Amino acid sequence: MSRPSDNEARRIFVRTFGCQMNRYDSERLVEILGGQQFVAVEDYRKADLIFINTCSVRDKAEQKAFSYLGRLKTLKSNRPELVVAFGGCVAQQYGEELLVRWPHLDLVVGTHSISKVPAMLARYEVTGERQAWVDFSYDFGDEPDGRSQLWKPEVSAYVTIMRGCDNFCTYCIVPMVRGRERSRPSGEIIREVESLIECGVREVTLLGQNVNSYGQGVSGEVDFAGLLQRVAQVEGLLRIRFTTSHPKDLSSTLMRSFADLPQLCPHIHLPVQSGSDYILQRMNRGYTRDHYLRLVKELREMRQDVGVSSDMIVGFPGESEEDFRLSLRLLEEVRFDGLFSFKYSDRPQTAARLLDGKVEEEVKLERLQRLQALQEQITLEKNEAQVGQTTLVLVEGPSQIGGSQLSGRTPQNRVVNFKGSPHLVGEEIHILITIAHAHSLEGVVCLEENVNLKIAKEKSWCGR
Ligand code: SF4
Repeated sequence: MSRPSDNEARRIFVRTFGCQMNRYDSERLVEILGGQQFVAVEDYRKADLIFINTCSVRDKAEQKAFSYLGRLKTLKSNRPELVVAFGGCVAQQYGEELLVRWPHLDLVVGTHSISKVPAMLARYEVTGERQAWVDFSYDFGDEPDGRSQLWKPEVSAYVTIMRGCDNFCTYCIVPMVRGRERSRPSGEIIREVESLIECGVREVTLLGQNVNSYGQGVSGEVDFAGLLQRVAQVEGLLRIRFTTSHPKDLSSTLMRSFADLPQLCPHIHLPVQSGSDYILQRMNRGYTRDHYLRLVKELREMRQDVGVSSDMIVGFPGESEEDFRLSLRLLEEVRFDGLFSFKYSDRPQTAARLLDGKVEEEVKLERLQRLQALQEQITLEKNEAQVGQTTLVLVEGPSQIGGSQLSGRTPQNRVVNFKGSPHLVGEEIHILITIAHAHSLEGVVCLEENVNLKIAKEKSWCGR
């Protein structure tokens, strides 16, 4: 990459695979490079730097990232000055080996090394040396206290509160590629939230692999329930969400937060992974089916309207048809509002890859289809129950379905599309739900309930 003149901006394109943590890291990268005269572009062919932020939690995501990298080979040979960088969990997993395997790859950036990218680029520009930086030298001081001026304010923003994981679920590579659990100091978190509010953010999602164990083992630090209370005190913050929760660390005190904190949205993503105790034990999840069901019951007693979503893996080694049916029965019992479901795949360095009882691919696929069909029916029924109800929606922006449609989310995290003026973005408004779909709702703005909204005076505001 040739060095531009002082006023010339360089262009970065980021392709992100995987979870919210990766999306957050991609945002940070763009911000960090914003201070180095980079601007983000939508078209990778116009970029001076292409950064692929990868996920290795599932084999499929890893293969997709490699396939994307492979497709850049021609572009790089036509434009040798282009810098191709590979980051995230797959980069952390393979390190320097990637530079040997992919001659058109220039930089390998591990999960703890996003803040090192400017230094890596500077060295590359001067020496042309291809580099890998994959040590675990991460410091929370590297997190932003706020967002740079180049950041485009959104209604909703993620805030990292911890990194890494100590749980070692037998199928999961995260502890190996993201390191051991570390909680970010609460003072830094609060400063970042305050700064986001100043930029116009209305909702924050506190992010970590297992937020429920926030602060554990850190002397003088609050626990996660305590952190929620502190965040709720930040003036101007409308909504708080968090993800992801581990059932074994979900305390009654934390559940009570749903009843006590008006800003905390009544929604929890609580991955169950399986309905069979035998499989849960093989996964090293640290709870039983009964314990999980008791948690959901207690949550619903604390806050009757709480939405519960989950993750499930089918075809884990040793899963019999009876184990799988226990998962189906758990779905029927809990009636999740949403579910992410996956076929098990062996991941390097994990304990599960060495377990016996591997399930055949076609059996996994058939089970996944049965599980997803059941959940789709449950989700649709739950969405249909919303029709005729009025709900508070935080308006996030234009809807993906286009037209003059806007999109927002209910407190339970359901997506709602409706017609409305762009002035409504960032407002929390009452919407009457009129149509239910499998993955979203449609509605109309309720004039009566929104009379206090200052923009209600504008005749065209509701799009009617
Ligand atoms: S809790 Fe288990 S599944 Fe989640 S990141 Fe940690 S090891 Fe992976």
